[in-house]
Amino acid sequence: MDFDTDKYQVYTWKSWWNLHWIINPVMAVNELLLGQRVPEVSLLDKTSVKPALKRTYVPCPHCGKLHDNMTWSSHNGTAFKNWFGLYCYNCGGIIPCLKNWFSLLLLTLTYPVWGWFKGNLKKRWLEKQPARYKELELENVPNPFEGYGWVKQGLQWGLFMFIIMTFIFPFFIGEAINWKRILVGIPVWTLAGLLFGFSMKLVVGKTGKK
Ligand SMILES: [Zn+2]
Repeated sequence: MDFDTDKYQVYTWKSWWNLHWIINPVMAVNELLLGQRVPEVSLLDKTSVKPALKRTYVPCPHCGKLHDNMTWSSHNGTAFKNWFGLYCYNCGGIIPCLKNWFSLLLLTLTYPVWGWFKGNLKKRWLEKQPARYKELELENVPNPFEGYGWVKQGLQWGLFMFIIMTFIFPFFIGEAINWKRILVGIPVWTLAGLLFGFSMKLVVGKTGKK
């Protein structure tokens, strides 16, 4: 697809935020467990002075519709469960998304297990999609990172990661849950959560030039 580059800044995997999504193995948790996805291409309206959250668009390569970024948001209940990609309610197609290297590795290694069900899983997932986008609210969606919202968002994410990495991950690699992991995990994930929240605040809040 070609875009009006006078109007839009085009973001692909080469932007630092998207690279972070691909490189940081922790993001595999968001991608595989939560089904949070980042589109391969997004557009930032350079002519708007609104915060980035409100001037970002996701193009559908199948029908060409420019979707408001808020189409896939917690506010609309569509931020997660997007395991097969971002669903385009306009044409029913799936908008391609970035893949975190670690989740790609895990999916490849476990393909013999889930590969059998892939077709079925995808079919069932697709059937559920149209209903999720029936009552989208795209205007006046609050920015969850605004003010001190980033602290709450960051700590929630940190707590989630703490539970996964301290209690669930050791189980899968056959390690015992131990105090050391818990004591190290608390400050590490608190800090990581705050960093995550704050960088999200900067990214989604970045206003356009007047
Ligand atoms: Zn479409």
